[in-house]
Amino acid sequence: MIVAITKRPGEHEVLELKELLGNRGIVENVVVRGDGCSVLSVTGGESLVQTLESSPLVSRVMTITGPWGMVAKEHASDVAPMNAVPGCSFGGTQFSVLAGPCSVEGHQQLLSVAQSVKESGAVGLRGGAFKPRTSPYAFQGLGHQGLEHLAAVRQQTGLSVVTEVMSAGEVERVAAAADMLQIGSRNVQNYRLLEAVGRCDTPVLLKRGMMSTIDEFLGSAEYIYARGNENIVLCERGIRSFEPRLRNTLDLGAVALLKRLTHLPVIVDPSHGTGLSELVAPLAKAALAMGADGLMLEVHSRPEIAKSDGRQSLSVSEFATLMTELAPLAQVLGRTLGSPMTAGHSVSGG
Ligand code: PEP
Ligand code: MN
Repeated sequence: MIVAITKRPGEHEVLELKELLGNRGIVENVVVRGDGCSVLSVTGGESLVQTLESSPLVSRVMTITGPWGMVAKEHASDVAPMNAVPGCSFGGTQFSVLAGPCSVEGHQQLLSVAQSVKESGAVGLRGGAFKPRTSPYAFQGLGHQGLEHLAAVRQQTGLSVVTEVMSAGEVERVAAAADMLQIGSRNVQNYRLLEAVGRCDTPVLLKRGMMSTIDEFLGSAEYIYARGNENIVLCERGIRSFEPRLRNTLDLGAVALLKRLTHLPVIVDPSHGTGLSELVAPLAKAALAMGADGLMLEVHSRPEIAKSDGRQSLSVSEFATLMTELAPLAQVLGRTLGSPMTAGHSVSGG
């Protein structure tokens, strides 16, 4: 951090400050004296910031890094693509597409969408069993029965499964049915939940909060990483803005920035990012073009009767068309659009 000192300090004032730092075991610091002000560089955490801010000698403390460190790019200079999810690789040249319904509505519904998206080139199946809905009267998901459908369809298709976990107490049970645990936008700062998924070894898909700054988002990823789970994929899903025509404002600039700040893979969810199915394809192409590591897309056999998020869901044929359009674009960009996989689970039936 950079510490600005109130006025041009005398020798004794510098000594006083050094003593204050020395008492905390910080001996290495550099004072740069300027005409109007002097600055001091030190390294330390949040509590040092507070100590310095309360010193009458200090006018301002500027921190260089956010509340995160291990997820920072510099922490892992040579990053290998993340292969922890069977059949899905995130990062590197791979561009992985996860697709499926917003909610698991039944076994047949899930199986039919899963088979279609697999055929079109999705490498993972999404589907919510526990749904965080704005209204307590809206469809809340099938819960544990939904998890059973996900586990069955995973077995039947060989697709890896990503599904949301909403509470720390459910982590183990959801992890048993899924290959990847989704932390939803509304829970991105539920720190006990982040710690709980951090303690397990199932990969995590961390969605950006609709009000998260980049530093807050990375701080949330750090909670998971710091507990030992390093297999984290970040997902930009749009943020709240003043624009009422779109459900959210998809922040592709954030994706470009995250790719510079962190070594974690970053994927994009244009379904929640726009709320409108007709905008999903253009933004999916934009995400590929600007360097994202993959997509998460909502797809339904009959979006018009979906129990949640039908308005933003692609039909299976729209999804197939989009995948066909993404393929040559990926090729030009030197990315590989993941092919359907069979690793990790036995494939039976479909
Ligand atoms: C979802 O993926 O269905 C979902 C609820 O997403 P978000 O948490 O981004 O709103
Ligand atoms: Mn949804």
